[in-house]
Amino acid sequence: MADTEFEAKQTQPPRRYGQSRLIETMEEMGIGTKATRHDVIQKLYDRGYIESDPPRPTGLAKAVVEASEEFADRIVSDEMTAQLEADMQAIAAGEKNFDEVADESREMLAQVFDELAESREAVGDHLQKSLKADKQLGPCPECGDTLLVRKSRAGSYFVGCDGYPDCEYTLPLPSTGKPLILDDVCEDHGLNEVKMLAGRKTFVHGCPQCKADEADEEDDEVIGVCPDCGEEHDGKLAIKRLRSGSRLVGCTRYPDCDYSLPLPRRGEIEVTDETCEEHDLPHLVVHSGDEPWELGCPICNYREYQSRQAGSEAGDHRGRRREDREEAEGRRRRGRPLAQGGGARRARRRTRRRRPRHRARLAGEGGLASPGRGGSAAERQ
Ligand SMILES: [Zn+2]
Ligand SMILES: [Zn+2]
Ligand SMILES: [Zn+2]
Ligand SMILES: [Zn+2]
Repeated sequence: MADTEFEAKQTQPPRRYGQSRLIETMEEMGIGTKATRHDVIQKLYDRGYIESDPPRPTGLAKAVVEASEEFADRIVSDEMTAQLEADMQAIAAGEKNFDEVADESREMLAQVFDELAESREAVGDHLQKSLKADKQLGPCPECGDTLLVRKSRAGSYFVGCDGYPDCEYTLPLPSTGKPLILDDVCEDHGLNEVKMLAGRKTFVHGCPQCKADEADEEDDEVIGVCPDCGEEHDGKLAIKRLRSGSRLVGCTRYPDCDYSLPLPRRGEIEVTDETCEEHDLPHLVVHSGDEPWELGCPICNYREYQSRQAGSEAGDHRGRRREDREEAEGRRRRGRPLAQGGGARRARRRTRRRRPRHRARLAGEGGLASPGRGGSAAERQ
C-alpha cells in the first residue's frame, strides 16, 4: 500500500458503530455468517482489540492493523475475508470443489505468512513501540519518569516505572483480567484509569494510585480469631483491603499465617451482631446496589462456594488469589494454600459490633457464589 494512501486512511475520522450496526455492516460486506458474527465481535473484546459499547478500538488493535497494513496488507483487506466466505458458500452450494478452494486458500495464506516472516523484525519493532505507548499511565511520583503497566514473570500485571531498575516504584493491579488503559485521567495523580478485561466480569479498577492509597488509609477490621493460628499465636481474622483493590478476610499475622477467605471487591461491608455458631464469626452483609446482600459467615460462605465449584476450577482461583495478595502486600510467594475453609479449629473469642439488622435475603440465597450476583467469591476478587 502506498504511503500516501496509508496516511489518508489514518487521518480519516473514526466511525463508531454500535454492535448491531457493526453486525449489519459485516453482513453487507459479506464478512462472517449469521452464526459467527457475534462470536467474532466477542473475540475482539476478549483479546482486548475493542472495548466499551459501542465498541472502541484499543491501541493494541490500531497497532496490529497498522503493522498488518504496512507489512501484510492482504490480511487486513476485507476482500480476502469476503473471498474466503464466498468460496465456502460456493462449496456448500456445490458450485466449487472443496479441494480446489482449500488449495487456493492455503496458497494465499502461505504468501501472507511469507511476507510477514520476511518483515518479522520490523513488525515486532512497530508493535513494541505502539504497545509501549499503549501501556503508559502517567508520571512516576518517585522519579518523574513514566509509569507503565507491566507483566511479572509469574504472569500477573502490575504498574512499574520505566526508570526501572533505577526506580523501583510499583503499584499493584487486580489479579482478575487483562488491564486496559482508559482515556480518563485521575486529577490527583495524573494517571490514566485502568479497566480490567475479564469477559462478563470486566470492571473498572480506576486510578491504581488512588486504590493503593485507599487501602493504606483503611484500617483492618478484626472480626474474630484465626482458625489456623489463633490458639497457638493469637492470630486474628480481619477484613482487609489490599492495595490491588481486592478485599478479603485474612489473618492479622500475614505473612506468617496466610489463612484467608474471599470477599467481594465492591460495596460497604457491614459486620452484624449475628454470629455463626460453628465458627464464632459474625455474619457479614454487603451493601452494593439497591439490595443488601446477606453474605453470612465468611467461612461457611466460602465452604459453600467451594462445594459448588469443580475441584480443578476452585484450585485455579485459589492460586490466582494468592498471587494477588502476595503482590498486593509486596511479599514473596510462600508454600501454603491460601484458604483452608474446612477443618477450622474452635475459635476462642468473638468481636461483636454494630447494630443488629434484619435479614434482607433468605439464608443461602445471597451466597458469594450465587450465580445471580455475577459470579463466585473468588471471581469477584
Ligand atoms: Zn520512577
Ligand atoms: Zn489517583
Ligand atoms: Zn492465622
Ligand atoms: Zn460459619
